[in-house]
Amino acid sequence: MSSSVALRLPSIDGLLRHPACAPLAERYGRDSLLTGLRQLLDELRPGVLSGQLAAVEIGAEVLAGRVGERLAQQQRSQVRRVFNLTGTVLHTNLGRALLPEEAIEAVQMAARYPLNLEFDLASGKRGDRDDLIEGLIRELTGAEAVTVVNNNAAAVLLTLNSLGARKEGIISRGELIEIGGAFRIPDIMARAGVRLHEVGTTNRTHARDYEAAISPRSGLIMRVHASNYSIEGFTARVPTAELAELAHAHGLPLLEDLGSGSLLDLTRWGLPAEPTVRQALLEGADIVTFSGDKLLGGPQAGLIVGRKELIAKIKKNPLKRALRVDKLTLAALEAVLGLYRDPDRLAERLPSLRLLTRPQAEIFAQAARLQPLLADVLGEVWQVSAVEALGMIGSGSQPVARLPSAALCCRPQVSKRWRGRYLLNLEAALRGLPVPVLGRIGDDALWLDLRQLDDEPAWLAQLAQLQVDR
Ligand SMILES: *Cc1c(COP(=O)(O)O)cnc(C)c1O
Repeated sequence: MSSSVALRLPSIDGLLRHPACAPLAERYGRDSLLTGLRQLLDELRPGVLSGQLAAVEIGAEVLAGRVGERLAQQQRSQVRRVFNLTGTVLHTNLGRALLPEEAIEAVQMAARYPLNLEFDLASGKRGDRDDLIEGLIRELTGAEAVTVVNNNAAAVLLTLNSLGARKEGIISRGELIEIGGAFRIPDIMARAGVRLHEVGTTNRTHARDYEAAISPRSGLIMRVHASNYSIEGFTARVPTAELAELAHAHGLPLLEDLGSGSLLDLTRWGLPAEPTVRQALLEGADIVTFSGDKLLGGPQAGLIVGRKELIAKIKKNPLKRALRVDKLTLAALEAVLGLYRDPDRLAERLPSLRLLTRPQAEIFAQAARLQPLLADVLGEVWQVSAVEALGMIGSGSQPVARLPSAALCCRPQVSKRWRGRYLLNLEAALRGLPVPVLGRIGDDALWLDLRQLDDEPAWLAQLAQLQVDR
């Protein structure tokens, strides 16, 4: 029923003067309030004209309340902290490695004050930013020199382009991998201007395959650590030492993209063996590339280490300028590398290593402790249990290796036909918490792997706010 008296929206001026809007102007600024009010009135106008809105829906208090909610929403940062209970420790979509306190302090210092980023304090002359970590890298890996770029993808691109442009890059068919997103070795080679010369087969490549491919057109031999899949069974791979010998006999450099690139043997902490940078160099790789935020446990970065004259050539490439790292990254990286000088205390001090090595018994005890609390909040529709679970290192490190862990497993006690919906609703409700909680759905249940639940008080404090739709 449309009333005979036409409803009218309040005027902007009237609203701005209204007492309900005054605190909003104070809090968010007059310009933001004005924009918010204009947007809201524009949205409501058609409803008012068509008579679909009642007078109470456009009262000044109601409108002020709605604009207030909107402004609060807009002011909230888009970059949000989350709880990563997915079971994947180095989760690319969730920011990979967490930095140690030492690195956080270094980042703060670098953000707050001028620093000797490219200034040699000894001579008073212009310096090179890579020099800030070269000493540490030499000590920790045995490399002669280093240069740092934005991430390992950039490291591979820059290295290939610097050493192999307009020439052929020889690589095994078993190593032509895709590493998530748009990073595929053949594509990156093409973009780097290196002509792909693939040899061998997916499962077996021999030294004679490489040898037969070498010609005056060859620029380099490349080896890629197949980080996110494994080839098992009837396989053959040429040892790095043998490949290096072959490359050097023909005057070619051997590049090894290690991916996660560990600096120390991880088996000393009970983790799966991963080739180390030092080992790859010792075996004869001329250049090794690896990520800063995978197993190394530092900031996002790509490290290129190896022979001095090759690194010098890479640093001269104009692309280096486009791919170089900023001062915050370098400050964090230096601090993280510094921790590696004391391996005995590394697992206490480096968060990624501490989380990766948390004993299953400890995680299980935590799950058992939290189980009744979560069960209570979720109510009887949900069966919550503390169970053993298997997590992953993540970021392509050891794709088949599993980390024995423990989880809270939430199963909806409803007929099979409704289970999917219940699980998605619970997942959404957890995501909607002030600090979103991210788990994983599998096997008709929602799993919260507790390996990375460090801040238990913060997690518990918001649990009461969980509202799951039915
Ligand atoms: C992860 C990975 C990359 C890409 O490294 P980002 O640091 O993510 O850019 C390249 N090569 C290998 C083998 C990898 O595992």
